[in-house]
Amino acid sequence: MKLNIKNKFTTQLPADPNLENSRRQVTEACFSYVTPKHTSNPELLHVSPEMLNNLGLTKSDAESEKFLNVVTGNIVLENTTPYAMCYAGHQFGNWAGQLGDGRAINLFEVEHDQKNWVVQLKGAGETPYSRSADGLAVLRSSIREYLCSEAMHHLGVPTTRALSLALTGDKVLRDVMYNGNPEYEKGAIVSRVSPSFLRFGSYEIFAARQDHKNLKILVDFTIKEHFPHLGAPSKDIYTQFFSEVCARTLEMIIHWQRVGFVHGVMNTDNMSILGLTIDYGPYGWLEGFDCGWTPNTTDNQHKRYRYGNQPNIGLWNLYQLANALYPLIEDAKAMEAILETYTTNFESQSLAMMRSKLGLQSENASDVLLIQALEDALQLTETDMTIFFRQLSSFKPGKASEGLPLVNDAFYAPTELSDKIKAQWNAWFDRYAERLLTESISNSERVVKMNAVNPKYVLRNYMAQLAIDAADKGDNTLIDELFQMMKKPYDEQPQYEQWFAKRPEWARDKVGCSMLSCSS
Ligand code: AMP
Ligand code: MG
Repeated sequence: MKLNIKNKFTTQLPADPNLENSRRQVTEACFSYVTPKHTSNPELLHVSPEMLNNLGLTKSDAESEKFLNVVTGNIVLENTTPYAMCYAGHQFGNWAGQLGDGRAINLFEVEHDQKNWVVQLKGAGETPYSRSADGLAVLRSSIREYLCSEAMHHLGVPTTRALSLALTGDKVLRDVMYNGNPEYEKGAIVSRVSPSFLRFGSYEIFAARQDHKNLKILVDFTIKEHFPHLGAPSKDIYTQFFSEVCARTLEMIIHWQRVGFVHGVMNTDNMSILGLTIDYGPYGWLEGFDCGWTPNTTDNQHKRYRYGNQPNIGLWNLYQLANALYPLIEDAKAMEAILETYTTNFESQSLAMMRSKLGLQSENASDVLLIQALEDALQLTETDMTIFFRQLSSFKPGKASEGLPLVNDAFYAPTELSDKIKAQWNAWFDRYAERLLTESISNSERVVKMNAVNPKYVLRNYMAQLAIDAADKGDNTLIDELFQMMKKPYDEQPQYEQWFAKRPEWARDKVGCSMLSCSS
């Protein structure tokens, strides 16, 4: 197993001088050295061939005892110094102070094909940032993160990646619904990979402590390693850096809206500085299209992180980042202008994204109303987002009356559609048909374009739960099946047709399918 090891983060940034693995406040440091916990009986459940390749590893490397021991924390490779990162964050709108990697341990960096990757274990034991928790992860949340991060990549959504999924052989106590019924579950570790795991909270922590010296060191490092095209750091370059983070964050969220992904916990400690989807916890996929939906039971009351609110929260989080970066930029006007651009760019990019979902190539001033009318119609009765948009590609403008039967499968209770709802839908299809007639591309060309942005398959909440239930009993075949299917989410893949279906009724209110807690 040959890896081109780099340690840029630990060699260029300030380390916590305290080497004790005790829970504490860590100041003037970006990270603390920590060794992963020994696991009693590790077992590899799945490896991502694409990620192996990205790191310069082969399939046979992944079959070695050494690989298993590295990705479960039992071996620390020579010349590597595992560490947990120090960061803070705003959680559910409130300042939470120091958080840090409570159960993530970065192993090393690998340079391959001119790309630099950080390999990190999630669930590898306690760190100085574990606060009152155990630093461990259970199988169900690990399967969800492993499958979803790779699926998101193949859906074209910026994301951190996953290299491996393994059982630790140890038991972990969890109270899934926080109702006083803790149970032992199988412990697991996902090895995740990203060019960087820096978060908004990594910068907020220094600003909050008025440690401008280390704030500057970290921002300079970030620009040098991750935004090198911006040039040498200066006030002007810091402003451009902030502007690019805003643009990347928006781009990521527009993709989420396009595929119906709800992150669930958009706290600033879960916002990547690279604009990658990070920290897959109680995330979920829209089944019925519903702007008010969140999978996160912890957020049930206010639904702060609901589907329709994600773009606003992205902006709110960027305001927190702006506050953190202000001491380096000291130009409130310039920063406000950038934040205002987020809103105008959101409007234009969201419109462009919805046009693409509808297969519209040209721009027409009435599109905003057409899209609004569609979103209203989609929420009249429970309507599956993925199936609706996929079926819509077969719509022919000359046959507007066939619109409703065409998308019939998308309705959860098709026989219960009232005449009023049917009339509203038919009116919408008439409008859509009229609009399509102003387009110059053929129906068959439009199908291809629509199918490239409207996935046929997404990782529905109940699908991940089925894989979890089977894996809990020792059967990992479904993990692999879903993994393979999600490599080509825009392709027809007739062998997976059974997964192009609405959520079954048994999953409607089942824990893990429609309700997810942060307990993981
Ligand atoms: P999250 O919302 O899952 O991103 O977690 C918020 C904070 O809690 C982060 O600092 C995590 O590292 C920490 N955390 C979550 N679960 C655990 C755990 N089981 N052990 C230690 N820290 C945890
Ligand atoms: Mg987190």
